[in-house]
Amino acid sequence: MAERKRALVTGGAGFLGSHLCERLLDEGWNVVCMDNLITGNLANIEHMIGREGFVFVKHDVTNFIHVPGRLDAILHFASPASPIDYLQLPIQTLKVGSLGTHKALGLAKSKGARFLLASTSEVYGDPLIHPQPESYWGNVNPVGPRGVYDEAKRFAEALTMAYHRFHGVDTRIVRIFNTYGPRMRAGDGRVVPAFITQALAGEPLTVFGDGSQTRSFCYVEDEVDGIWRLLNSGHPDPVNIGNPAEMTVLEFAREIIRLTGSRSEITYRPLPEDDPKVRQPDISLARKLLGWEPRVPLEEGLRRTIAYFRDHHPAS
Ligand code: UDP
Repeated sequence: MAERKRALVTGGAGFLGSHLCERLLDEGWNVVCMDNLITGNLANIEHMIGREGFVFVKHDVTNFIHVPGRLDAILHFASPASPIDYLQLPIQTLKVGSLGTHKALGLAKSKGARFLLASTSEVYGDPLIHPQPESYWGNVNPVGPRGVYDEAKRFAEALTMAYHRFHGVDTRIVRIFNTYGPRMRAGDGRVVPAFITQALAGEPLTVFGDGSQTRSFCYVEDEVDGIWRLLNSGHPDPVNIGNPAEMTVLEFAREIIRLTGSRSEITYRPLPEDDPKVRQPDISLARKLLGWEPRVPLEEGLRRTIAYFRDHHPAS
């Protein structure tokens, strides 16, 4: 019997990282899940502890990463990932995108492991091209409040390509668009957990600005499937993985109120600085290269996510 493959997932106790660990285990891989638990949470992975081939290591990947034994893949998902988190953790966000990516790439080089970087639609900033293809270079304010995340991820992409070109490391870059599902943190400030917890508590939904800005929401199972396919592809250049079904934030708020059956009203708050006005992935490349496209309709994905928040935050 072939030996099981082994992956390191940084940020493995986070929302996306934990779903990814689960998918790798389901595919018959051994998984080293690494997280410093600043924004990740052990509750996201406790059901995997005890599963064959799963280990958790508490470590901050901005410091030297030591993993004994073989590694076939490193999936670098460690980073604060919500606007509130990276406003509260600006230095950590910059460090994990730069120093953390450097350490993870160095480990990939020394182990001969494939490396996959979790990048983001934020590299497109407040986009002037819509929808966004991978060839678009973006419109990012480097010194604005979101710059700490956007520039860290842009630097991480550049570093990944340098390790690919200069050291021959086998690399992948996924540009992740808004993704939602169970295990999002209730207080992370992102629109999905914010609206669902507000609706379940009967509190007003806080729409920022006039709610005319758009986002395109991808269910986590679809996102992870796209990432898994990209990992197994031979494509080193960035690939968008997201759901092209675009809607305004106001429409999204109404949908959450409808699906929760809530009596909540909508209240308007100031639009955060540099909040992108539109966002929608062009997924032509993922379709062609990976035969991938999202399958879970918004209503179905939101029903599952609402059920999770009802179970995990019954008081809210
Ligand atoms: N948003 C909102 N109310 C909230 C949280 C977010 O209207 O309570 C808006 C936010 O201004 C943005 C969109 O929802 O236009 C998505 O925000 P999120 O923080 O989820 O992620 P982003 O796509 O901005 O990175």
